[in-house]
Amino acid sequence: MQAVLKDSGLKITAQGCKLLEFLTQVDEQHLTIENIYLGLNAQGETIGLHTVHRIMAHFEQAGLVVGRLFESKNTVYELSNKPRHDHLICLTCGKLIDFIDPLIELRLGLAAEHHGMSIHHHSLNMYGHCFACQKALNSKSGKQKV
Ligand SMILES: [Zn+2]
Ligand SMILES: [Zn+2]
Repeated sequence: MQAVLKDSGLKITAQGCKLLEFLTQVDEQHLTIENIYLGLNAQGETIGLHTVHRIMAHFEQAGLVVGRLFESKNTVYELSNKPRHDHLICLTCGKLIDFIDPLIELRLGLAAEHHGMSIHHHSLNMYGHCFACQKALNSKSGKQKV
């Protein structure tokens, strides 16, 4: 991690180190500023919401993290060293799932080529309901989907 920091040319404070350490350790890979703030403080770090904001802005500028804005949610951040991927988003519980489909990548590349463009990057987000939420919705409405 130290090497990554050096490469980014970023001057990192002790708090910045803690924050980055936290991002690499948590299971959930899409975090809002508030998630990070609460997570760090739960670990006994005394770090202000404002400071988290400031550090994350630096990290994004340096290309260490990518901020993504999904429908009706706050920006979530993930580390930029993950492989390129697309997202599935549950509209009910907000669950975010990363997925990679080489066939989709291939089709997008072909479509771009067909229209005379080379792709720099793309973003593909699918919105729906995860099976757990779908089940809850069905039982609440008392109807069974046919
Ligand atoms: Zn859900
Ligand atoms: Zn992701």
